[in-house]
Amino acid sequence: MDLRMRLHALGLVIVGAAACAPTPKVAPTPSTTAATSLYMPRNIAKAFRNGTRSPDGRPGPKYWQNRGRYDIAITALPPDRTVRGSEEITYYNNSPDTLRNPVIKLFLNIHKPGAPRMGGASADYLTDGVTIESFAVNGSNVAWPGGARTYTWQRFPLPTPLLPHDSVHLSFKWHYPISLESGREGMLDSTTYFLAYFYPRVAVFDDYDGWDTMNFTDMQEFYSDFNDYDVSITVPANFVVWGPGTLLNAADVLQPAILDRFNRSMTSDQTINIATRADMAAKRVTKQSRNTWRFRARDIPDMAFNLSDHYVWDGGSVIVDSATRRRSSVQASYNDTAADYHHMVQYGRHSLEWLSSNWPGVPYPFEKTTVVQGTADMEYPMFVNDEAFPDTVFARFVVEHEIAHSWFPFYMGINETRYAYMDEGWATAFEYLIGVSDLGADRAGGFFKQFRVSGWAGNPSSLEDLPIITPTDALTGAAYGDNSYGKPALAYLALKDMLGDTQFRAALHGFMDRWHGKHPIPWDFFNSVNNITGQNLNWYWNGWFFDPGNIDVALLAVEKTGNGYDVHIANVGGKPVPVDIVARFTDGTTQTFHQTAGIWARDPKHTIVSLATSKTIQSATLDTGIWVDADSTNNTWSAK
Ligand SMILES: [Zn+2]
Repeated sequence: MDLRMRLHALGLVIVGAAACAPTPKVAPTPSTTAATSLYMPRNIAKAFRNGTRSPDGRPGPKYWQNRGRYDIAITALPPDRTVRGSEEITYYNNSPDTLRNPVIKLFLNIHKPGAPRMGGASADYLTDGVTIESFAVNGSNVAWPGGARTYTWQRFPLPTPLLPHDSVHLSFKWHYPISLESGREGMLDSTTYFLAYFYPRVAVFDDYDGWDTMNFTDMQEFYSDFNDYDVSITVPANFVVWGPGTLLNAADVLQPAILDRFNRSMTSDQTINIATRADMAAKRVTKQSRNTWRFRARDIPDMAFNLSDHYVWDGGSVIVDSATRRRSSVQASYNDTAADYHHMVQYGRHSLEWLSSNWPGVPYPFEKTTVVQGTADMEYPMFVNDEAFPDTVFARFVVEHEIAHSWFPFYMGINETRYAYMDEGWATAFEYLIGVSDLGADRAGGFFKQFRVSGWAGNPSSLEDLPIITPTDALTGAAYGDNSYGKPALAYLALKDMLGDTQFRAALHGFMDRWHGKHPIPWDFFNSVNNITGQNLNWYWNGWFFDPGNIDVALLAVEKTGNGYDVHIANVGGKPVPVDIVARFTDGTTQTFHQTAGIWARDPKHTIVSLATSKTIQSATLDTGIWVDADSTNNTWSAK
């Protein structure tokens, strides 16, 4: 999540969903519907024709993806704002294509005056961007082609083409001034830096778009290959560095008492104060010389780092895989004055444990996570940068969302720039499910409606009705947020309701097994769920992802039948949502008949639901719960 996505949400709140009684009615079997094929843009259709993607939802027999090895030596000497790096990249071309003009991403050039960006830029945000001091290909110096008008990506010509199944070695020396104003990266204070998106990297070259030449505008998020990283960061004495992966040389940089606490935190359920405010102030945390901290991580899509001479450091750990008893470390770095952060290791432990064993229900795939007090409310591999919040319930909610991203996009290799709903939608669905566990269904549902649904549901602008499948980079404002977060989360949650937990888990885990560590696209998900469930759910994918529309059901009529009633419901908005029919009987009792989204399988616009009851209905109301109805004035029927 990005905090800016929490935007417009503080409006109408309908707290407390009606209790839902399970219904004996069986939804129409979707396989009885005529199969429709899903729309595919021409580049996607070509990938299927080429065999890199398979119609059954699996990676195709010719699937490939490229990768890199990154060795980076960084020097950061606060309060000097210049961050310097020396970087060696080995890039492997696993594609069948000969590559002549690779693309390098230079995200931090977004700080350059004139860079295309979605929002404004204050004087404290602007910098000179990334300066490439030297560049070499396979050991030979080459003039870097970038100039004043190079922003967040740059092509360069290879002296000799990179053939299929060959590799090339790239060397960069670079520096950049860290920006005074912190967003997703930057200075947190004069001696606390958050380094992210800072190093030159080879853009993704994939089977459906070729080279990724999208500008980074600080709106869309990221798309990265899975790489191996060895990073060293040299900082002054008394600075702690937090990074992802394994800290290889803790004994070289930490004083013995601190090292002992750090090591104990790796097996402790309790929060251990590895370095307290007093420790930091007394300068008794690191060795008393300039220290080089070395981190190693394999098969992850990015690296970020935090460094400070006064943030305090907590640590603990949690079992994330009950079968193997594997533990992951949970660390927090923060200003001691941030009250919520004193709970952060436990919030992190709770998130990892719950998400690993419930939804998505796949053991946390990494060795650690670190939560840094910053400004971003943003996820990074094995890292979260969150504001401090006065409300600890909200602080926990935000960190749960960010940690949920560990699975989507980082384990699953999602292209967030084109298909943000493939990660934000899932993180938002998991955020709701862990919220129900934390707070109960009523409170979590109220919260979810307030922050994720009501702003979209109640806004009649045509922008809000755009199909979710619209490329994320073609969306702005509320349409970007709602198509990435609330709408797809509702689609995933309605799918869970329709399939039931057992089949939904099989579909989700099947998709994750097939695609983790790779680059799935929406069609791979749709095809996988169809394949794993044995159902043609294209009507559902069309209704939620491909068709424009909103959530609006209408109760047309309630007709007496031999053993109860037929309830006629229209789907005015078009989204296939579950519906609770709340019947009030003449004897004063009520009964709720839950209908899954399967009621829209035969006809997306109209359905007849048969209710078996011997009682007489006085009135009936449609309640769509967290699937907030845009117009509830047409939801009630009363006997004359
Ligand atoms: Zn998110």
